[in-house]
Amino acid sequence: MTDFLDPRLQNLAPYTPGEQPQERRYIKLNTNECPYPPAPGVKDAVAAQAALLNLYPDPAAAALRTAMARTLDVPESSVFMGNGSDEILAFCFQGLCANGAAFADVTYGFYPVYTALYGVAARVIPLQADFTLDTQAYENARETLFIANPNAPTGLALPAAALEALAAGNTGRLLVVDEAYVDFGAESVVKLTQKYDNILVVGTLSKSRALAGARLGYAVGAPGLIAALERIRYSFNPYNLSRLAMAAGLAALHDAAYFECCRRKIMQTRADTTDKLAALGFECTASKANFVFARHQTAGGGALYRALKSAGVLVRWFDKPRIQDYLRITIGTPEEMAQLFMAFEKILRVR
Ligand code: PMP
Repeated sequence: MTDFLDPRLQNLAPYTPGEQPQERRYIKLNTNECPYPPAPGVKDAVAAQAALLNLYPDPAAAALRTAMARTLDVPESSVFMGNGSDEILAFCFQGLCANGAAFADVTYGFYPVYTALYGVAARVIPLQADFTLDTQAYENARETLFIANPNAPTGLALPAAALEALAAGNTGRLLVVDEAYVDFGAESVVKLTQKYDNILVVGTLSKSRALAGARLGYAVGAPGLIAALERIRYSFNPYNLSRLAMAAGLAALHDAAYFECCRRKIMQTRADTTDKLAALGFECTASKANFVFARHQTAGGGALYRALKSAGVLVRWFDKPRIQDYLRITIGTPEEMAQLFMAFEKILRVR
């Protein structure tokens, strides 16, 4: 690495995204994308913006923000839009963690990376043996709390009441709830942002709205929190959302029926997948996300990941303590899952 790199970043270990092969050789069940295309209106809406690409986009993202507020049934003053929820999480770590940050040992891998990038003190609070999160362990923390609900990569979700108790128990401490996967069956705390000014919900259009390639995320919180995020955004990149992305987002939010249909299909396929995995000797967590987290009785996670890859199926395997035996498998279409099971049957038979 060059000597020009700031010494503060010399030891920074960056986030490793899931593999994104650019040729379509693999069944991709590794990065929790929606297996269905974006809502039908998205294509034309994006095309209509192409002729305007000589002009900067609206820095206030006014139209999209209005649509997002309407979708979530909250006032516009409570809504913030970002370039993927990753950008919003980055802003939170950068600007809303004066007392440090606390999060689980098994959770979204970007949290520790952001603490390292922004020099925020991190406190890691281990999940229980069954990967459930005991909110009691967070009660006395002074740090900003980051809780992914449902959690990744386990898929386990807390009830809204548990998160409410955590926020109510210390109104001087911020609770960031990462709801990237909330539309697949967990309880959202968006409504609670209207009651507590120490809850910030972060969400995304990448999963349930099938727009991972557009990079659109949102945050919902008290107007003061939104103003803080806007201060950071305008100090970093006021044009953080492209015209194309905003047009895509607007069209996707407009089609509530398509959204309902996709998420229902994914939840149904998740139930079928869990049953089939159990029949093959896997044990799955009770995932409320668009992925399952599964461990085989005898076969190791790394070996299964490699064998599936050779068979043309990409899943995610984390070579990390506590979860090395598991695979995180994104829910694809029923046809994609059938391919996965064909591969599993071969792999497990020849062992
Ligand atoms: N939070 C969690 C828990 C995630 O798994 C992801 C997806 N990698 C994100 C946030 C970021 O999603 P995006 O930036 O696509 O909105």
